[in-house]
Amino acid sequence: MKVLKFGGTSVANAENISKVIEILISESKKQNIAVVVSALGGITDELIKAGTFASLKDETYITTFDHIKARHLETVKLLISIARAKDVSKNVEAKLEELKNLLHGIFLINEFSNKTRDKILSFGELLSSYIISEKLKDKIKLSELKDSRELIVTDSTHTKAIVNTKLTNKNIASYFNSNKAKVIILPGFVSRNEHGDTTTLGRGGSDYTAAIIASALKASDLEIWTDVSGMFTANPKLVKQAFPIEEISYQEAMELSHFGAKVLYPPTVQPALQKNIPIYIKNTFEPKAKGTLIKKKTSNTNGPVKGISHIENIALLTLEGNGMIGVPGFSKRLFSALSIAEINVVLITQASSEHSICVGVYSNDAQHAKKMVDEEFAYELSLKKIKPLLVEDQLAVVAVVGDNMKNHQGISGRMFKSLGQNNVNVRAIAQGASERNISAVIAHKDIKKALTTLHNRFFEKQVKTLNLFIVGVGNVGQILINQIKQQQDYLVKNLLLNIKVIGISNSKKMIFNEDGIDLSSWNTLIKKGKTRTHDTFFKEVTDLNLSNSIFIDVTANEEVAKTYKDYLKESISVIACNKIACSSKYSDYQELKELSRKYNASLLFETNVGAGLPIIYTLNNLVNSGDKITSIQAVLSGSLNFVFNNFNENNSFYDVVKQAQAEGYTEPDPRIDLSGVDVARKILILAREAGFKMDLKDIKNESFLPKESLKAKSVAEFYKTLEKQASHFETIYNKAQNKNCQLKYVAEFNNGKAKVSLKEVDKDHPFYNLEGKDNIVLFFTERYPEQPLIIKGAGAGAEVTASGLFADIITLGRN
Ligand code: ADP
Ligand code: ASP
Ligand code: MG
Repeated sequence: MKVLKFGGTSVANAENISKVIEILISESKKQNIAVVVSALGGITDELIKAGTFASLKDETYITTFDHIKARHLETVKLLISIARAKDVSKNVEAKLEELKNLLHGIFLINEFSNKTRDKILSFGELLSSYIISEKLKDKIKLSELKDSRELIVTDSTHTKAIVNTKLTNKNIASYFNSNKAKVIILPGFVSRNEHGDTTTLGRGGSDYTAAIIASALKASDLEIWTDVSGMFTANPKLVKQAFPIEEISYQEAMELSHFGAKVLYPPTVQPALQKNIPIYIKNTFEPKAKGTLIKKKTSNTNGPVKGISHIENIALLTLEGNGMIGVPGFSKRLFSALSIAEINVVLITQASSEHSICVGVYSNDAQHAKKMVDEEFAYELSLKKIKPLLVEDQLAVVAVVGDNMKNHQGISGRMFKSLGQNNVNVRAIAQGASERNISAVIAHKDIKKALTTLHNRFFEKQVKTLNLFIVGVGNVGQILINQIKQQQDYLVKNLLLNIKVIGISNSKKMIFNEDGIDLSSWNTLIKKGKTRTHDTFFKEVTDLNLSNSIFIDVTANEEVAKTYKDYLKESISVIACNKIACSSKYSDYQELKELSRKYNASLLFETNVGAGLPIIYTLNNLVNSGDKITSIQAVLSGSLNFVFNNFNENNSFYDVVKQAQAEGYTEPDPRIDLSGVDVARKILILAREAGFKMDLKDIKNESFLPKESLKAKSVAEFYKTLEKQASHFETIYNKAQNKNCQLKYVAEFNNGKAKVSLKEVDKDHPFYNLEGKDNIVLFFTERYPEQPLIIKGAGAGAEVTASGLFADIITLGRN
């Protein structure tokens, strides 16, 4: 004998029931089966709704009733053969009439006691089992319906009754033993007490009904058929990467279900465990899928963590006070107060100081708990030996579960590190001595992030997902997006990095997609995007609350730079090619560095100097490994290098600058480059990264521009002065030419002092042959005192800047 249970979704409508019937036909060919069914999906909730409306004297209950009626009659119409549909409908209608009368009674006396509630709710399973058994009669002759209330006897704890196992087992055995039917259909969830009143086994209790029957009959298997292909590593509705667990022990399944894995009603495991009956979780809509096998001992092919689950709507109660230290009996009184109030304790923690005890309860019990506990300790409260019970709400519990965790070190370390790195604040921790479960109390808003983070940590060790939010889609931003698109598959395969672009914004609009924006159509999508401000963008990023979030600034905008702080404080890493933040006031730069450390979020800005060249990376490695920078000599402006490499007798200074701008080598405002400010910022950033406290005003800037150009109020005016002052530039050029020298705009840092200036370099100088838009940096350090460490290559251009940003993203992902 085998027992099968079909849940609400599996029997939600005629179409689904037909699938159930197919499974039953196939199974009954192999052996006799007992089949437990739930109410049609959603009906139990509707029955509660109808009863509640009626008790509130709200006539809406009639509409709800009509809806319940329509769903059942529609199912009969579509399911049962025409010949018998009339009779079946008549019986269903008669039952529904009884329900309607009961609801009317509730309406009249406006009372919806737990006893009445059980009676009302029983209609869901009684109707579904009747309809299904009628359908089955067409297909399997030896099939019949048995009302579980005639078998399962309970106490009178209405809504969640306790089963009288002895009597129940006897009833079940005697009914089944004398029965020849191939298939017996039974309603789940419903039972009766000694007086014959209807009771129920708790929400989700049809699983339990099936387990009770399986246990009484010592069935070969118990199969729970539902809408997912097994017990998953985490709730599949919240964690997309979750997958079915092939095998799991009774204890593990019990822990997971107690901690919120709704797929199995927690009390279900015990009866099966007692008789060592394997439980299979199967998918009605994918019967071929393997599903999950729950048994005594599992083969240990996977890691020590089997699954992650969570419970929502938790409140934390803290009883605290100096008067508790060393005084016995406080916890006993606390727990007995909660027990008298029938409050279920989900989690308990107590520090060894005994100064406080913390318990987690369901939110809707919290206020009642406070009242009861404060009453219990009224005397101690009046003496100020303890504080009034502290209630913190809007919390949740996440639990990591596995029998084998006790044999592995560092599981809790990994768990809390991952949560911490993703800014999930842990309010309380509990770990049973069995070490089968480690639970953390977190904010409700962090549930999804915590689950995906932990899932990623324990089950997807292979692939790490980075969630990018890109601001600025000019030349560089667009190329970056294309580079990401092109490399996505490669990175997953070779570096186990899954790079997803979740948000993109230009100066006006923004778009988001939690699953990753389609990078081939982002530029069309953004036209229809939402209006963007710094605040709305920030809010979207923080509301999404994804793990490994990275904010990427591809603008040159001061206001954007000011928002980095906010992101870092949310533990969101920042990658910027925008130089403003790192070259603004030293205190601001310092603050960003501190926030990055404090909130464990990276701040990377390699492209601030030399575009994609690994300049800051190299400098950081030197400093971190204990070297000291004594001097830096550098040509850091790709634009100025381009200008002075192309400026000669045939090309006027004006023409060359125009060309540099047209080819994208200058900032949008060329004055920033030509005035030397851009280079000054770069050497400032290098000096700071080398460990020196400097500000922009400390960088000596000897400009080669005539006064008139420096004073120009607009870009257009600036260009005019370049044309007018042609001879000024020619003189500079000729002077250098006469000495056989090249003109280079050089940044220098020597022992704490820095300057930028135009220099004539002769042919023996390493800068002499620097071509096109190339940059060069010479680091003189204690370890490189005479021959400097040299980095040289293209230091400007959208392609290399984008690839520098991309390198920062990858660096961050591999950390
Ligand atoms: P039924 O109506 O068949 O009894 P339930 O709704 O009670 O089904 O349980 C199945 C649901 O449990 C799934 O649809 C899923 O949303 C939820 N669930 C929560 N945690 C898990 C988990 N770890 N594995 C599988 N399902 C889970
Ligand atoms: N119908 C009941 C409920 O929704 C029992 C069950 O489906 O398991 O809670
Ligand atoms: Mg269920």
